[in-house]
Amino acid sequence: MDAETGKVSVSSDRPPVNSQGLTAAPLSPCAAFQQVVEDYLIRHRSILDVLSKCQESTARVNRAVAKAVTTCGCIRIEAEAQHYPVDADLMEMRRHMSTHLSGQLCDHCRDMVDAELGRALFYLTALCNLLDLQLEEVIRAETRRITTLGVFNLT
Ligand SMILES: [Zn+2]
Repeated sequence: MDAETGKVSVSSDRPPVNSQGLTAAPLSPCAAFQQVVEDYLIRHRSILDVLSKCQESTARVNRAVAKAVTTCGCIRIEAEAQHYPVDADLMEMRRHMSTHLSGQLCDHCRDMVDAELGRALFYLTALCNLLDLQLEEVIRAETRRITTLGVFNLT
């Protein structure tokens, strides 16, 4: 972080240089994001702040989607009980399951949801940092779990 401007310089076009002046491998997008979060998380470094900010930020994602429905109207929710054949297997069931969504996010609502998702990712990543977890490894492990257990994992 620049001490005068308080800004963190993240340059993806120039690989980082280590203390011996040797060029290190460029950071992956997840590792680069994790580093930015580490650099920028200054005020709310307590685990209590990070945990509560995680919860607050996901609530704000919900709120942004709700506002797209109730204020803008670019998307609509038309929910009812899911109807599917009783003898359907899980793969066939997918074809019968509705999202209950219709319409598409307008540019404004997309920007709002996008920003709130980014903020939620910021605090999830901050939680990874405080607990010394690598975001990329969390994603890899979950991908392995999902693909290993298949569709039965998330029923
Ligand atoms: Zn909208």
